[in-house]
Order: sequence, then structure tokens, then C-alpha cells
Amino acid sequence: MDMNNLLRLFEQHYSFNQEGIRLFHAPGRVNLIGEHIDYNGGYVLPAALQLGTYLLIRANADRMLRLASVQFEQLASFSIDELPTSKSDEWTDYALGVVHEMKMAGQPLTTGYDLLVAGNIPNGAGLSSSASLEVVMGYAFMTLEGYSVDRTALAQLSQRAENKFVGVNSGIMDQFAVSHGKQDHAIFIDCDSLHYEHVPFQIQGYKLIIGNTNKRRGLVDSQYNERRTQCDEAVVQLKQVFPELTYLAHLTSEQFQQAKHVLTDRIVCQRAEHVVLENERVKQSMAALQQGDLLTFGELMNASHESLRDLYEVSCEELDVMVQEARAIKGTIGSRMTGAGFGGCTISLVEQAAVEEFVQTVGANYERHTGVRPDFYVCDVGDGVMELQWPNN
Ligand code: ADP
Ligand code: MG
Repeated sequence: MDMNNLLRLFEQHYSFNQEGIRLFHAPGRVNLIGEHIDYNGGYVLPAALQLGTYLLIRANADRMLRLASVQFEQLASFSIDELPTSKSDEWTDYALGVVHEMKMAGQPLTTGYDLLVAGNIPNGAGLSSSASLEVVMGYAFMTLEGYSVDRTALAQLSQRAENKFVGVNSGIMDQFAVSHGKQDHAIFIDCDSLHYEHVPFQIQGYKLIIGNTNKRRGLVDSQYNERRTQCDEAVVQLKQVFPELTYLAHLTSEQFQQAKHVLTDRIVCQRAEHVVLENERVKQSMAALQQGDLLTFGELMNASHESLRDLYEVSCEELDVMVQEARAIKGTIGSRMTGAGFGGCTISLVEQAAVEEFVQTVGANYERHTGVRPDFYVCDVGDGVMELQWPNN
């Protein structure tokens, strides 16, 4: 990202001086393992990426909130005394949702601001550009207003902005990872208690490659809601054996084996089995990463994909082809779909020496199979939201 260019753009939008502009950054995130677990009260293991969203922001004297993005044409300008309370189906909803939730939390804006957003996370690919945008907005406003920033509260506030204002029914993982990320660490999160732990993600000699299938995730909303309903149904039935059960992921695999006969619907049983076993894989992954055992982690990634494909049925041909081609590269030690599914991205852990071959060969074979050109991002694991100093120039 060219910072001088961003400063110039800010000037063009708002005035002919660069005094007092502050710079913030929030990452995107990738979930390493633990898919479709957050709303089932279990463990997930995301990591923050170095791809992210930059925010240039400066207070103004005229009580106006002005929003611009390098990626979107729509500009918006509101009086902070008459902010919209419902969405307009523009990107600005994410910002307004955060401001609205801050007000509800007793942290209103007391002055106007001019903002310019610039991101390099592909939108809609499952790398959480939306959470990155919400969290960078909330963090910047709270910092400039002098409100104390609690990163968990910021994640929760941003999630409410997305759930209630934007109207997307997502779990807490995305905003949590974007808030709490740490370089070279994954974040082990208990989505029920929100207890979390940074887990060393030391992958010297290997790289994380994110492959974007570039397939629009068409079915995702209805299928996502159906999976949630099926999981709720499984909990209701399993209460016959475990009356105290609140979330599927609270069952161990032994408990599940003992109780699964009450799940009369085969599909519901499959969904529940994925959740229980995937949750155990997250715990096993944390243990493997703590010991620096990347090969075991790679095997767990592979098993996760198989389960999402066969039991939870949220993969698709594009994801399966990309994963299959990835695993055919010598030097790939694990590959799986990541995110909600039905398109979006895969992640692969690949020996550094094989990265170039991976990108070329998987890219060519994927395109031959699907007719779509994929994108690859060779990623490093970055920090959570923060204020940045302007680079010296
Ligand atoms: P994902 O979070 O998987 O990337 P979403 O559909 O949840 O996909 O969020 C993408 C939306 O977030 C975009 O369509 C846009 O409204 C908003 N957004 C993300 N990044 C930016 C940005 N840099 N500038 C403006 N809006 C953005
Ligand atoms: Mg999103």
C-alpha cells in the first residue's frame, strides 16, 4: 500500500493540507481450523493476516461524518447529530453500524470526522474484509474520542454492528481475530466463554498459501442458516441423553458416540458428528502447533476438509478441485477449504521451496478444470488492529 498516495487522496477528498491525519490498520483473518464451530460454542483457531484495511482519519470542526473508500465509489456524508439508524445497502453501513453501536454502548461521537478507507483484502472471499473494516473503524473512533479500548468488547460491538445494522448473521470469530491478532501466532478461541490464547504459529521453512476460488458464494446465506437450524435440532434431541447440553461442541467424541442413536435424521447426525470431531481437531491442532509439529497439523487440516465435504456438505466442486490439486504438489503438508464454504478460499501449508510451483501448477490445473482463474496470496500472519505511525519518507 502506497502511503503517500493515500495521503494525497485524503487531501483531494477533504482539504489541501495533511495536518493531523492519523493512520490505523486492521487485518483480515483466515481460520486455520475449526469450521462452522463458532455458533456451536466450541473452539476455533484463526490467525490475523498481513492483508488488511487501512484507515486515514481526522476530526473536523463541522460535526459531519464523511466517508470515502479507495475500493468503492459511494461517498457519504452525515451530520453526527442526525445519523441514520438503518442500513442503505452501501459499504458505509459497516461504518454507520459501528458508530450506532458505540452510541448504544454510551460511547457517542462528540465531533465530526473525515475518513478514507483503503483495503487489500479481497471482498467477499471469506477473509473477513467486513470485520476488518468494522474493527478498524471502532478502534480509531474509540482512540480519537479517548474511550478506553477493550479488544474483546470492540470485537463484540463490531459483531453487533454486522448482525444488527448490516443484517448479516455471523459469529464472533472474525471480529475477535481481527481485534486480538498477533504476529506469528494463531488465536485459540473458546467461542462460548470467549476465553482465548495466542498459540505460536512457527512455520519456518513453510508458507501459508490462501487460494481464492473466485467463485461467488451464492448459496451461502440459506445454506448457512439451514446448518445452524440442523445443529439446534441436534442439541434438542441430544438433550434426551444430556439434559444440560447447550452447544453441540460441548460433547466429547465419546459422549457423542454414546448418544448419537437419538439423532433419528441421518443428515442431522452427520452435521453433529462434524461439529464434535472438528472441535476435537482444533484442540489437537493447538497441541501440535505448541510442539512445532506441523506434519500433524497438516493431517488435521486434511481431515477437516474431508469432514466439511462429506459430513457437513459445505464444500463445492471448485474448493474440492483446488484442495486436490494443492495436495498433489510435493511439499504440501495440508490443504482445506476455509470459511463458510460454497466458494471462497482454501488454505494450504506448503514447503517454501515448492511455493512457486504450487502457484503455477495449482493455478493452471484449477483453471483447466473450472474455467475460472484463481488468485493466490502467500501470507504471513500479522498483528491485530492498531494505530500506525506514518512511515518516514
Ligand atoms: P468478506 O467479509 O468475506 O470479505 P463480506 O461480504 O462480509 O465479505 O464483506 C464485504 C463488504 O465489506 C464489501 O462489499 C464492502 O461493503 C465492505 N468493505 C470491505 N472492505 C472495504 C473497503 N476497503 N472499503 C469499503 N468497503 C469495504
Ligand atoms: Mg464478512
